[in-house]
Amino acid sequence: MAKTCKASTSNNKTKRSAPLAPKAPPAPPASSDAVRASMQGNKGADTKPELLVRQRLREAGLTGYRLHWKVPGRPDVAWPGKKVALFVNGCFWHRHKGCKMASTPKSTREYWTFKFERNVERDKQNMAALRRAGWRIHIIWECQLKKDRIESTFARLLPKLAGELDKELHLPSSAKERAT
Ligand SMILES: [Zn+2]
Repeated sequence: MAKTCKASTSNNKTKRSAPLAPKAPPAPPASSDAVRASMQGNKGADTKPELLVRQRLREAGLTGYRLHWKVPGRPDVAWPGKKVALFVNGCFWHRHKGCKMASTPKSTREYWTFKFERNVERDKQNMAALRRAGWRIHIIWECQLKKDRIESTFARLLPKLAGELDKELHLPSSAKERAT
């Protein structure tokens, strides 16, 4: 009597795909400028603007920060002990008001409007939650890191941060050189 080898028939349950909610309009083709801008604006760790900001903080002696601390919004830079949070926001993705870099792509406008509204709402909620928990929040927009604006951005921000962090502000020679 020959033994028959039974083929496994155990995993043929049909899976019904659950509908996704909320429903997003279809995404634009991956080649479009809008998508590229979105990718760049998408917050991955160690994006260039973030590195630039951290470099300036270190130079100024405002160290001791933590990256992407686990509080609402995952601030790019945070001093948890002092409850000071610093966000480095891409203008396109986070909808910097009145900023040229926050244009809405003409094609597939519906898709972007949907995504943007969600981003803005999420940011708003995160900021509110942080403030309720006693955090002080600073936002650096990507456009404020452009060559012609970066010095004034940090000239404003660093003393404020130093005050809140109870740290002495260093003004390194390299920063002075840059300013000239
Ligand atoms: Zn901007």
